[in-house]
Amino acid sequence: MVEYDEFGPEKILEVYDSKTGMRGFTVIDNTALGPAKGGIRMTPSVSVDEVAKLARTMTWKCAMAELPFGGGKSGIIADDRAMDRDRKMEIVRAFAKAIKPICPSQYVAAPDMNTGEAEMAEFALANGRMNSATGKPATMCVRPGVKCGIPHEYGSTGYGVFHAAKVAAAHLKMGLKGLTVAIEGFGNVGTFAMKYLTESGAKVVGISDSKGTAYLPQGFDYNKMMEVKESQGTVAKYPGAKILDGPAVFELPADIVIPAAIPNSINEKNAGRIKAKIIIEAANIPMTPATEEKLHKAGILVVPDFVANAGGVISSYAEYVGKNPEQMLKLVEKKIVRNTKLVLEAAKKSKASPRAAGMDIAMRRVRDAMKKS
Ligand code: NAD
Repeated sequence: MVEYDEFGPEKILEVYDSKTGMRGFTVIDNTALGPAKGGIRMTPSVSVDEVAKLARTMTWKCAMAELPFGGGKSGIIADDRAMDRDRKMEIVRAFAKAIKPICPSQYVAAPDMNTGEAEMAEFALANGRMNSATGKPATMCVRPGVKCGIPHEYGSTGYGVFHAAKVAAAHLKMGLKGLTVAIEGFGNVGTFAMKYLTESGAKVVGISDSKGTAYLPQGFDYNKMMEVKESQGTVAKYPGAKILDGPAVFELPADIVIPAAIPNSINEKNAGRIKAKIIIEAANIPMTPATEEKLHKAGILVVPDFVANAGGVISSYAEYVGKNPEQMLKLVEKKIVRNTKLVLEAAKKSKASPRAAGMDIAMRRVRDAMKKS
């Protein structure tokens, strides 16, 4: 059941197109700071409840990143036929037309599960406004002659995760140079986080993917790891590395652990065996708030997801206002550094967990905007 409170959801729009059979919905959680921003999830089981929860997370993430966006999310029910490419695009177009009255004035779309740059291009064309969706291909123009679609291949989230790690290390009076890191997941976020971390002198000693964990105490070479993943399909084929099972990545002797794959990968079972001093939550909800609180009490510095992985939505904002990829990366750095520092300092002062301190800041920002609107 959708839960309603002082913040929202303000609007839930359910749409159906009898011609194509498209069924979808958009939840606009809160627009006090600006149009609701959030991805379109296309799965067979997507529900209004699931989307409403994700929309609320976007409200906090956008407020935390100081963006003029509120929180929203969409779902399109993907039947088996909807996964065929032509059928999928037909459905995306039907959805874009159906929610046109609220998009982009109240809702701006983005990629999520099973939607990517091709779907965003289709969505924007069917809507008729280039800024109705972000995460479009790099060749798509917001204004004539300006190439400024910013797909997630630019690695904004991994870049933000790297900056959150740098700030967290500095908070504990350490530099990244020589620190050891273990990363769960070697997809878009994990690869870019590794790239920037190794470039700044940190040693990535553990990496996992769906096939296992590779461990190399002297640290992996980024380019070689990319080659191995590309040619062998898994990080677990890195020559000379010790190969362990997937969850072992969290128990390696490393200063920083970065969950960057699936929800709830850190849990009751393995939380007590984590040796790291810092955890940067690159994945969404890699652990429950209760586990996070337990780790906080055990003295581990946990930078929460809505602070650490906001690089993606900051990139969306950059695209929305027509910035280029270089300007986007500068903005990601500026916002992630400023807000991670703010949250960690507030947590230190109040002795609360960084999540509690961050939520306090985000809620205050939304409440202040609601009073003014
Ligand atoms: P991706 O699909 O590009 O990569 C996921 C990686 O996780 C792959 O390497 C896959 O092999 C690995 N993986 C899957 N199951 C695993 C398991 N059981 N153990 C270890 N590894 C496993 O995804 P992504 O875009 O890199 O996103 C990763 C996480 O970050 C997700 O939780 C996502 O919600 C979150 N996130 C992503 C972005 C973004 O911009 N891409 C933004 C915010 C949050």
